[in-house]
Amino acid sequence: MPNLLEVKDLHAAYGATGVLHGIDLELREGSVTALLGANGAGKTTTLRALCQMMVSTRGSIQLDGKRADGRATEDIVRLGVAHVPDGRGTFLGLSTEENLRLGAYLRKDKAGVSEDFERVYGYFPRLKERRHQQAGTLSGGEQQMLAIGRALMSRPRLLLLDEPSFGLAPLIVRDIFDIMRRINTEEKVSILLVEQNASLALDIADSVYLLETGRIVLNGTPQDVRDNDAVRRVYLGE
Ligand code: ATP
Repeated sequence: MPNLLEVKDLHAAYGATGVLHGIDLELREGSVTALLGANGAGKTTTLRALCQMMVSTRGSIQLDGKRADGRATEDIVRLGVAHVPDGRGTFLGLSTEENLRLGAYLRKDKAGVSEDFERVYGYFPRLKERRHQQAGTLSGGEQQMLAIGRALMSRPRLLLLDEPSFGLAPLIVRDIFDIMRRINTEEKVSILLVEQNASLALDIADSVYLLETGRIVLNGTPQDVRDNDAVRRVYLGE
């Protein structure tokens, strides 16, 4: 499979504070690629840099061979990228359905959008039951489902997921990861997954990058990570 995403020498900074110091990253079309690292390593910043959101960046980002660096966030959505940010980005005062509709705000194909509501409700039946409910009254797990559902409404080729397990009970996390895997295999949506829970991420990923203070220090398969004693001790607590 060709690369959907190719990042070369990406730097990112908040004002004068540099956070990413030249990272290279490739994501194969159809894969789940995990980006692991300790608190503050720059994982969230990497996802923001790919969407050209909140950080200034330097370096090259190609999406399916098209240049994405230096473009507006809206153009990146048009190129097929959907970002599920940390904190989920849900509009708590709007209903579930209104939040989902926002995910489709750039689309003009009404029939396709209606189909996609059903598609999202197929993956997340709980969202259908709660479609008229205010998003702020949903449980944490339901809000994470809504954030993923909203991202799917833009028909992305690449989903950027920031800590989908954060603050959720293990059973809910398992459900959400199972659905992410289905979305990946059934819809051929590629996923770049940022996770603190390394063991969960290794279970689902095809390829793994390890980030330390803004630099990639390891890239390989989940097995490569499990075979690396130092990495296993630090990230898997074994
Ligand atoms: P975590 O899991 O703790 O979110 P992370 O690997 O996702 O870690 P980032 O959130 O990307 O790390 O943060 C990397 C560095 O950038 C940290 O030192 C953080 O304090 C800093 N940082 C993050 N967001 C901002 C911001 N909006 N303004 C200034 N500095 C920021």
